[in-house]
Amino acid sequence: MTDPLRNSQRSMVEIKRIPGKSFSSNVYIVQAQKNFILDAGAGPVKLICEYVDSESIDIDRIILTHRHYDHVGGAEKLSELLDVPIYAHELAAKALCEGNDETIISSSFGKEISGLDVKTFDEETYAGFLQIYTPGHTNCSICLYHGGEKILLSGDTVFSGGGVGRSDLPTGNFKELKDSVEKLTKYDVHSLYPGHGPSVQKEGNQHIRLSLKNISYL
Ligand SMILES: [Zn+2]
Repeated sequence: MTDPLRNSQRSMVEIKRIPGKSFSSNVYIVQAQKNFILDAGAGPVKLICEYVDSESIDIDRIILTHRHYDHVGGAEKLSELLDVPIYAHELAAKALCEGNDETIISSSFGKEISGLDVKTFDEETYAGFLQIYTPGHTNCSICLYHGGEKILLSGDTVFSGGGVGRSDLPTGNFKELKDSVEKLTKYDVHSLYPGHGPSVQKEGNQHIRLSLKNISYL
């Protein structure tokens, strides 16, 4: 029987998707030039650690696509257990260090968050992935793109099937979101790994173009 959590195996990049349950985001364990975890979700810490242990993956860091609680709730525990630092866009790092509940929207999920030790992710490229700044869902949203393998990890900016993230939450901005989705259509994407919902392994750019079309009607 195939493992339903194992979405792709590639020669240069391997990505394990741990699907979000309840309100938790998807979590991606990425093996590339360096190994990292993208988004910590808000629950599956044990599952993540078990997978990392069973595969003997040497994780270098945790990267957060933005500051929302459903993506960061498990970050502190995960960082402790794996003994790795957490990185995010400088605006996310600042809000998370301050434990800014209003913009982290933890109370919307019935949770509280205290200050997290998050470092600024300021590398233009990391482990073969280009960091793309995509404000709109939040002012601290980023995507990661691997040009060689045509992989986009899109956070809550675009979802497969033509979806886009909300822009009506604190620090969100509709115009910026639209510009960010348009920016993403310029990249050649085969595999699309979003923050929520299913990933796709081919023709990712068609999904992103559909997202742009959908947001253009709003
Ligand atoms: Zn979000």
